[in-house]
Amino acid sequence: MKNSLQDEVRYLKGVGPERAKLLNSLGIEVTSDLLNYAPRRYEDRSNFRKIGGVKEGEHVTIEGEVKASGLRRARARMEFVTVAFTDGTGTIYGVWFNQPYMKDLFKIGQTVILSGKVTKYKKLQLQNPEYEIVLDEQYDLINTGRIVPIYPLTEGISQRVIRRIVKNCLDSYLDLIEDPVSESVKSRRSLMDLKDAYYNLHFPESVQKAKDALNCLAFYELLLLELFILGRRKSEAKKAGGVSHNIEGRLIADFIKSLPFKLTQSQLKALVAIKRDMANCGRMNRLLQGDVGCGKTVVAACAVLIAVQSGRQAAFMAPTEILAEQHYKALKNLLGKPGIKTCLVKGAMKESDKKKVLRDISSGSADLIVGTHALIQEAVTYKSLSLCIIDEQHKFGVVQREKLIKKGVFPDTLVMTATPIPRTLAITVYGDMDVSVIDEMPAGRIPVKTYAVKSGKLRSAYNFIKKQVSLGGQAYIIYPLVEESEKLSLKSAAKMYKELSQGCFKELKTGMIHGRIPAQEKERIMDLFNKNITKILISTSVIEVGIDNPRATVMLIEHAERFGLSQLHQLRGRVGRGKMQSYCILCSDSNSEESVKRAKAMVKTNDGFKLADLDLKMRGPGEFSGTRQHGVSDLRIADIVRDKSILRLARSDAKLILKQNKDEYKKLIEAAEGRFSEGNKRDS
Ligand code: ADP
Ligand code: MG
Repeated sequence: MKNSLQDEVRYLKGVGPERAKLLNSLGIEVTSDLLNYAPRRYEDRSNFRKIGGVKEGEHVTIEGEVKASGLRRARARMEFVTVAFTDGTGTIYGVWFNQPYMKDLFKIGQTVILSGKVTKYKKLQLQNPEYEIVLDEQYDLINTGRIVPIYPLTEGISQRVIRRIVKNCLDSYLDLIEDPVSESVKSRRSLMDLKDAYYNLHFPESVQKAKDALNCLAFYELLLLELFILGRRKSEAKKAGGVSHNIEGRLIADFIKSLPFKLTQSQLKALVAIKRDMANCGRMNRLLQGDVGCGKTVVAACAVLIAVQSGRQAAFMAPTEILAEQHYKALKNLLGKPGIKTCLVKGAMKESDKKKVLRDISSGSADLIVGTHALIQEAVTYKSLSLCIIDEQHKFGVVQREKLIKKGVFPDTLVMTATPIPRTLAITVYGDMDVSVIDEMPAGRIPVKTYAVKSGKLRSAYNFIKKQVSLGGQAYIIYPLVEESEKLSLKSAAKMYKELSQGCFKELKTGMIHGRIPAQEKERIMDLFNKNITKILISTSVIEVGIDNPRATVMLIEHAERFGLSQLHQLRGRVGRGKMQSYCILCSDSNSEESVKRAKAMVKTNDGFKLADLDLKMRGPGEFSGTRQHGVSDLRIADIVRDKSILRLARSDAKLILKQNKDEYKKLIEAAEGRFSEGNKRDS
């Protein structure tokens, strides 16, 4: 059978079913995964020291001849093998604990290379050193006597074992690696040959070669990613034939004049970009990002007016019914005066209501259609949809987004997100879109005050909540779990709801909401809270997106260590939406460095972009919403935080390659498609 880079690793020499499981747990399933499994660092064991010259405390590599070996028992459960090595300048002892088989491993007279830390116990020793027996001239050194890779590993698999497996894999599979990068690209960036790079990634000739190899492979990977993303953008843009909207009509001018506030500079800037896009007959593909409460909805409303004054319809899709309902109310309110006819489509509707709404949509008497993914049902046909607005799009699949777009004829698309995405990520993740950022809050907003406390302070936190409620506020209390879990000793929403509603908050109406509650029931619960009947809402993180209750002034998050920074920030965005001072209390007993750092950052700043940047540094890009759909989480070698400057080069090369579109690039462009397009991605 012919080898392939997609061969399962279990069939590799030295692996077998047990080790395969361990490798799988590291994300290594096929041979190409193994080749792309980058060492965490390297150790230089290439310089042999004279045994006579080594000193206690040094990390050394020596080459010596086996002189004698013996097994000794120290205490009841402690045996150790001592082997004497000499190179003519001195003698050093290798000591291995509780591995009696080591005694027979070394034969007198054999040459062995050893690496380890020198310790002194009467005589100089190396305890449990890495070793390699030199069998003949041709023998490949992989564990010592060279620059040695140190891999990120899991229990049950040692560095020695994985090095051997990787070496076997390189020996049999390296030749299969195709190098689609043409010479012109390589020479411009002085890149190594791809095969060379893979070999040097694992078994480098020098420290510099290891660095070059890593940079080369990171560049290659980012080049493919950028080619994929920019290529897609280009093919989208080609599909012109979009609507050229009328942006100067009365509706929008009157609307802006009628608002009780002035748009912020950021809002105006976003609006200018949207107008330009919508006037153009190409298709708008724009991302509008901005922190919760920065006023994206008004901007979206302006876009709706542009569509309507051009005689078209707009659709607004939100990820949950609660949000769809909320947007429906907000937009109907905003756009009522300009006479926009707004309707709502959701999953569960009375048959007669539904019929009427569907008729309004297809006849064109509905101007703005708000809804959940019910908007893309077969039954919904639009008279002339020319604007799709998608809220929190990362909650939707690419397919759903495409489906909505197909309901119109090349409609303009405006995607909104309140999850701030660090700029480095945004240009990559949303590389196929234009990006508008609203990075200022409307004047007069009172920043939320945030505190981090230990659980010993919970009592006072509960009392604080009571006080806030007595002052007319409402509160959220967030738990990481719905129900008690056997594995994790965490408080759960269900248990704490029982405890608090019957105890501490007996006198106050308390509600509970979480993801397992049916949609209709959820709506009722949210309604009670929004109407200020329920004072305290106990919840899991389902409350995260978009919920807008201006009376909510306190958020208490228990087990705050269980939430990522971006998520904490999203949760906090549920308060501070009204005229009263709001508070966020993070409660955690964790002393882990990460969670302390997160809490400190939350206390210090309300700026979602700053927090997102920090989150990216702490957790890497895989955790960011949207990255999964866009390939960034499929990166194996490149790290877009570490390799920021490489990313820039890759991006500019990708642009050039797509522009020049020469034959020599064909393979590269195909490779990009093969690597990143949907269906070719494994795992995610
Ligand atoms: P987002 O959707 O970005 O979270 P919203 O659009 O819901 O934010 O806006 C939050 C609140 O701020 C709304 O009540 C809105 O009317 C108000 N608002 C929006 N823009 C401004 C502005 N420029 N000045 C004052 N208030 C504003
Ligand atoms: Mg909003």
